[in-house]
Amino acid sequence: MRLSQILFSQGFGTRRLCAGLIYNEEVSVNGEVVDDPDAEFECEGFSFEVSGKTWPFYDKALILLNKPTGYECSRKPKHHPSVMNLLPAPLRERDVQPIGRLDEDTTGLLLLTDDGTLIHKLTSPKHHVPKVYEAQCKHPVTPEQVAQLLAGVTLREPEPKAEVAGRAASASSNFKSAGKPSPKPGADAKPAYTPEEVRAEGAEAFGTHGLRLTLTEGKYHQVKRMVAAVGNRVESLHRPRFGALELPVDLKPGEWIWISSPKLITP
Ligand code: URA
Repeated sequence: MRLSQILFSQGFGTRRLCAGLIYNEEVSVNGEVVDDPDAEFECEGFSFEVSGKTWPFYDKALILLNKPTGYECSRKPKHHPSVMNLLPAPLRERDVQPIGRLDEDTTGLLLLTDDGTLIHKLTSPKHHVPKVYEAQCKHPVTPEQVAQLLAGVTLREPEPKAEVAGRAASASSNFKSAGKPSPKPGADAKPAYTPEEVRAEGAEAFGTHGLRLTLTEGKYHQVKRMVAAVGNRVESLHRPRFGALELPVDLKPGEWIWISSPKLITP
């Protein structure tokens, strides 16, 4: 494929912009500047540098981000910036989006991709991809709470977020995220909520207030609501693991890395 076409396919902007980057000597291959947009390269295993940063050629991009607090996973965020703001323009341009969601105040391992099939596969409850969460709780975690979480608890109706409580429109958006129908504009009635029974695949206490949970589903605020259901409260939440992938210890909040193959995700 021609170098300008490669850059275009990887989200570096219009064909004209990509050719411009090459003419401006901002693109190199194997450490050598290439200033010819028509130079041909084999895409398989190909990588190139733009302004000093290496970009592997990917048919589909797959990114692991260490999500900091203060970012929403939505592409149309309501109250905080989107996690997409943490990615460089070529990835945003490729329409990369999160695989599942973490709350604004949750930190840790978030995967993003432009591969719709992979998003569906990894978020579908059918595939049982285990996700590990570490919560610091308000009260000490008791063996009874751990046993209850493993046996199964009933999730109550999700509450509207504190900062938007009382605003009907925002409250209805919470129901939408929970997969429930939202009321028609102007309607007073809340959507009917059916209590849901869920259980943790793994649960253990650590320290006095720490709780490590393994879940294979991804219901709205699931960890917080499960912990509330056993009479405790999540004060902070972190995800160190998604499937077989662990958050690299040297990846700082806000930093991201390429994942070379989706095969690495499933255990
Ligand atoms: N469960 C939650 O309550 N919040 C998250 O961000 C993820 C799982």
